[in-house]
Amino acid sequence: PTAPLGGLRVRQRAALRVEVLALYRRYFPDQRGRLIVLAGPSGVGKGTIVSWITSRFPNFVVSVSATTRPKRPGEREGEHYYFLSPGEFQALIAQGDLLEWAVVHGEHQYGTPRGPVEALLDEGKHVILEIDVQGAKQVKRAVKRALSIFITPPSFEALHDRLSSRGTESEPERRRRLVTAERELRRQKEFDYVVVNDTVEKAGQSIVDLALASRDPQATKE
Ligand code: 5GP
Repeated sequence: PTAPLGGLRVRQRAALRVEVLALYRRYFPDQRGRLIVLAGPSGVGKGTIVSWITSRFPNFVVSVSATTRPKRPGEREGEHYYFLSPGEFQALIAQGDLLEWAVVHGEHQYGTPRGPVEALLDEGKHVILEIDVQGAKQVKRAVKRALSIFITPPSFEALHDRLSSRGTESEPERRRRLVTAERELRRQKEFDYVVVNDTVEKAGQSIVDLALASRDPQATKE
């Protein structure tokens, strides 16, 4: 009777919260949001599709990655990426704070901060990770219920044209991205679904439909 609010003290409340969350995750996996992994070659239009989805469906959000890549003009800290030094990135890895991470285009490190993703899933949000193929594999291994989707261009030529017209990369960087793209395209069979980006509306709607429709049968076994 002397304890504050609800008969529980601060630490007891925190411990109870952790326990309830663990039970909730275990017995009500369908109440949590869906973790959606979107991969596909650079320039295929993942970013545009993700913006299309998140601007129309408030239950879908995109995770902000950490990277050691330098900021491009127009990019904002915490919105496009968390721009970190190699040392800061290493610290996140060491603390187990990344859900996955990879060196992309043989150059910089990119990774998904774990905490914010878990918190959003607990809120029932569907969280989109826009990451590379190596990272997608790691997420599928760690999170069985994750839905992995590979976005392909209508043709390789379309991808080449897109990368050239974007003009954000230097010529050597563009070539490096096309090499990665070819390698990534070969791995699309490893994904749960493949969505062709012929129009942003069709691709975006397909992803939303897949996320909402495909309740993983594993969910009831967990
Ligand atoms: P950019 O340098 O153009 O922003 O991103 C290059 C590539 O890095 C993207 O196509 C995406 O596949 C990958 N990427 C972005 N964030 C992450 C992440 O958190 N983890 C992994 N594994 N790859 C990422």
